[in-house]
Amino acid sequence: MVISGKELSEKIKARLAEQVAEFPATYGRVPHLVVILVGEDPASQSYVRGKAKASEAVGIKNTTVLKPADISQAELLALIDRLNKDDGVDGILVQLPLPDHIDEEAVIEAIAREKDVDGFHPGNVAALWMKRPCTVACTPLGIIRLLDEAGVQISGKRAVVIGRSQIVGLPTAKLLLDRNATVTICHSRTSNLPEVTRQADILVVAIGRPRFVTEDMVSPGAVVIDVGVNRDPETGKLCGDVDFDAIEPKASVITPVPGGVGPMTIACLMENTVGCFLRRVSLK
Ligand code: NAP
Repeated sequence: MVISGKELSEKIKARLAEQVAEFPATYGRVPHLVVILVGEDPASQSYVRGKAKASEAVGIKNTTVLKPADISQAELLALIDRLNKDDGVDGILVQLPLPDHIDEEAVIEAIAREKDVDGFHPGNVAALWMKRPCTVACTPLGIIRLLDEAGVQISGKRAVVIGRSQIVGLPTAKLLLDRNATVTICHSRTSNLPEVTRQADILVVAIGRPRFVTEDMVSPGAVVIDVGVNRDPETGKLCGDVDFDAIEPKASVITPVPGGVGPMTIACLMENTVGCFLRRVSLK
């Protein structure tokens, strides 16, 4: 079964839109997401446009703030400080990556935890690992939603995550663990990777290498979630970290690229923005 993240993300956004439509009557306004884009990286511009489009579909107010690539760190931090203090702003997202002269960690940490819709703030990361209420990073959350939608049982299964990044691999492994999977995390120094991946009932791949996972690395009936977003070196087209054509007949469930995890990430960003809004208005 190929699970369409596109279809599921549309369902999630439609449900959120119904919820948000009630907010003006109940709370006097709709959620407001501010997205900051530094520089003119085409991929980042496209992600930011996608976030604005999804916000519009859901009825969330979206402000995109464009800043030149040579903005100083102090200026960026001052902008975040103003947005933190602005009561009419519920979510703040700084599109990554940032130019080299800016310390990404300092920027992420500067965003008020309650407005951190990306779930990257150390307070949210720590809370995830301590099983406390938190905003969970959008891509890992989207992966779990996809597995649930496909009816995949997670509890008791052997899950293998390739990739240990702070934004995808690690939080995905933690969410799978919280759902009672037995989790192995692999990375560039893992020995005998195919031997490990062949043991997976659920294989999540977040590496960033075109079609790195080949058919011989997957056991029959495995569930394969492909997080990678790469350009095929030959055709220039988007492709994942998994050799989809070879693995699709062997896997019980697989996600395509594009149209798998990507749209789910944006839908979960919308969900996180609504969550941040609701927590803020309920505190008043
Ligand atoms: P990242 O920070 O570069 O991390 C890549 C991870 O893959 C690292 O842990 C690295 O291991 C591991 N790795 C690299 N080469 C490997 C190899 N040969 N064998 C085993 N492990 C290897 O990347 P990321 O931010 O997690 O993103 C991963 C991919 O997902 C990228 O293609 C990115 O574009 C995509 N992505 C998609 C979405 C979405 O919404 N669809 C969201 C975020 C990211 P080490 O730790 O040992 O270096």
